[in-house]
Order: sequence, then C-alpha cells, then structure tokens
Amino acid sequence: MLAVLGAGGMGALAGFLAGSFHGLPRAGAAAGAAVAVGLLVGRDAWRGRRLLKWLRGSLEGSAPRDAGFWGEVGYRIEKGLKAREHRADAERERLAQFLSAMEASPNGVLLIDAEEQIDWCNSVAALHFELQPDRDRRQRVTNLVRSPAFKAHLDAGRWQEPVVFVAPDGRTTLSVIVRPYGDGLKLVLSQDITERERHEAMRRDFVANVSHEIRSPLTVLAGFVETMATLPLGEAERQRVLALMGQQTDRMKTLVADLLTLAQLEGSPRPPPDRWVALPALVERALADARALSAGRHRIDGPAIGDVALAGSESELLSAIGNLLSNAVRYTPDGGRIGLQWVSRPDGSGAVEVVDTGLGIARDHLPRLTERFYRVDGSRSRETGGTGLGLSIVKHVMQRHGGAIDIDSTPGAGSTFRLLFPAARVRRNNRQPSAVALAAAVLQPVSGPDDATAR
Ligand code: ADP
Repeated sequence: MLAVLGAGGMGALAGFLAGSFHGLPRAGAAAGAAVAVGLLVGRDAWRGRRLLKWLRGSLEGSAPRDAGFWGEVGYRIEKGLKAREHRADAERERLAQFLSAMEASPNGVLLIDAEEQIDWCNSVAALHFELQPDRDRRQRVTNLVRSPAFKAHLDAGRWQEPVVFVAPDGRTTLSVIVRPYGDGLKLVLSQDITERERHEAMRRDFVANVSHEIRSPLTVLAGFVETMATLPLGEAERQRVLALMGQQTDRMKTLVADLLTLAQLEGSPRPPPDRWVALPALVERALADARALSAGRHRIDGPAIGDVALAGSESELLSAIGNLLSNAVRYTPDGGRIGLQWVSRPDGSGAVEVVDTGLGIARDHLPRLTERFYRVDGSRSRETGGTGLGLSIVKHVMQRHGGAIDIDSTPGAGSTFRLLFPAARVRRNNRQPSAVALAAAVLQPVSGPDDATAR
C-alpha cells in the first residue's frame, strides 16, 4: 500500500512538473500518478505470475528471487518446502533402516493388509513361503501359501498360539505367529523349526527306547523273583535261575554304562588336541579284551603298529576301538577272522581299521547304523550283550576328535569299520607297516578256533 502511495505521489509530482510546463499541472499530476501506479501494479502482477509458474511446476530449485511482497512469499514457501523435504528424507532413512533391520531378522517377516494382501516381506519369509517379493506384492497371501492350517489360523483370529505347518517346499516345518497391528494390518512371523522338531522327535524316541530296553530285563527279573518266591526250587534250578537273573542285571548294567558314556560324551568339552596317546598300547588293550570276549572262537590279528600317537582322550579312543572289536567278535560266526590295522595316509591323516569276515551288513542299513538303538538284527545284538548304542558312541568319539567313522560291508562276506583321524591329531615317528600285510593276514585260511589268539 505504501509502495502504491509512494509511486502515486512520485508519479503525480513528475506529472505536475511536466503538466506545468504545458500549462496543465492538474492533468499532468493525475496522469503521472496513474502511470506510476499502473507500472507498479504491472510489475507486481508479473512477479506474482512468475511465482505462480514456479509453484505450478516441479518446485525444484529456488523460488524467484524478488524483492517486495512476492519475493517474501516465494522465500517463505521455499523455506517451508525445504523443511518438509528434510523431514521426509529423515523419515525415509528411518524407514530404510527399519526395513533393513527386519531384513536382517533370522525369522521370516511378512506384512499383510486388512484384505490379507502381501504388503512387504523379508527374504527369509520369501524363502519360507516361496514368495517373490516384487511379483507377489498385493497378492492374497492365502492364494500363495496354500496350507489349510495357515488359512484356518488366519481366519480364526485367535493368534495367541503359533501355528505349525509344512512349508510350500514340502520339507521345512514352519512355526508361524500372527500379530495384528494398525487398522486391520497383520504381522506374520515365521520360523524354521525343522531341526528343532527332528531333535524333539529324536529325544522322544530315545526316551521310549531307553524305557523299553530297561523294561525288558526288569520284566524278566520280576518273573524270576516271583518264581523264586512262590515255587520250591531245587538247588540246581535255583542256580540256573540265579544265573539267568545275573545275565539280565548284567544287561541293564551295560545299558546304563553305555548311556552314561553317551551323556558324558555330550556334556564334556572336546578332548585336548595336544595330549598324545600311544596307539600301540591302546590297541593291545583293546585286542586283549576282544580275545577274551571271543574266547578262542575267532582268529584275531593285530600286526604291530609303528610309533603312532593320537591326540585326544585315551578312554574315549579305547572305547571307540573296543566297541568296533567287540562288534566284530559278536557279529562274526565262530571260526571267522578279525583284524585291526593302522593305515597312514599321505596327507598325514590316518585310520584305525577293524576288518572282519563276519555277517556283513546290507547297504540300506549302513547310513543308520550309528543311530542310537539302531540294530540290523535285534535278537543277535541282545543275545550277545549288545545295547544298540556302541556305534553311536563311536561316532560321538570320532566327532569329538575331529574325525569320522566310515563303514564298508558286504552281506555274508564281512565288514570294514574305519576310524578316520585328521592329520592334526596324528603323530608318527616310525614307518608304518603296510596295510596289505594285514589284509593278507586276515584273509589267510584259519586252521581252527584253537589258534584264534595267534598273532
Ligand atoms: P549293538 O550293541 O547292537 O552291537 P551297535 O551300535 O554297536 O549296537 O551296532 C549297531 C548294529 O550294527 C548292530 O546291532 C549290528 O546289527 C550292526 N553291526 C555292528 N557291527 C557289525 C559288524 N562288525 N558286522 C555286522 N554287523 C554289525
């Protein structure tokens, strides 16, 4: 307003002076004022239009830098817009951080809207539900995840408990939790529990097996106790029953001992990598036990092992080798041959091999032999004092020594059980005997059970 008055006044003054020169001072003042005001209004209109053009456009760059009213308006709008842009940038960054945190989650995260359409999912959820985030956005989740249990759970609306179902890949077991948020939106969290379920099933099987293994001898014992309490037995019968009771208690004792060994193996730290155990002495002890168990029924060979030492636990290594030899004795018919040898490998690793000419094992059974209580022939195992835990103990021992167990077998011809030790756990000072020597010794004809302990 002041600018209009000022311009009008200046225009009137200029017009008045020019008009006086022509004898028309009043008309000159009026025309001067009108022209000045007109110019001012025209300039303002032009500035306003420029600002409007900027506002209608992309709003990029700065507002037109003008003085006066429109300049001020442009400057204020630009400042407001910049502040809003900063806030939006900060929000965008926070959202990106939030999404990358959800992406880093070990669990699947899936966001669905009120119509159960997919809004967003992280890569774990994409894997669990076999989704393609870009392709499947805005798709109804139940059209893609077709598990009836999942659909029923979503429909039920009672989401306190997780739902467990098999993932679309048919192999993975998923535990899924649904949490509502916002206006009808849902957060679906998925977790792969396949391993957990497998362990849980193994634990259940284990408890059932242990109970069964203990109950059988207990039932037999209870029968004998009742027999002795109710029947007048002669001395010979009494001795026979007592012997049978002794067998059952021995069976339970062996089972408990094996269970304790397993528990110890699972609960104790790994055997030290720098405590060296001389293999020849260890093997001697194991062979002596095997010969005692065989009682001359087999030929048991153990060619001299050079100066080999293994790093680890003496008792565990003895238990592993002893278990293999005891199995060889128990699953090799009388007159068969059993051999133990050490085989060195060029890379510094080595193996203890127990070879027998026994019953052998069909290929189908091999992958399961080291499972707890897995037996190819349950009655033979029990008759010979087996618990079904021997090879499981061997496998544990080998894993704890960074090694592995390897089995070759031909039904009717015999088996070779190898305990493979990594180079880091093997120390050799002398040359080793050749493996061929032992194989030849094992395969020699046996003259009879009498020379079973010959070496
Ligand atoms: P067990 O106490 O029954 O011997 P193991 O775990 O030691 O349990 O062995 C598992 C099963 O593997 C045995 O029941 C037996 O059927 C089979 N097996 C183990 N060693 C031999 C072998 N040397 N020859 C044939 N079968 C064997």
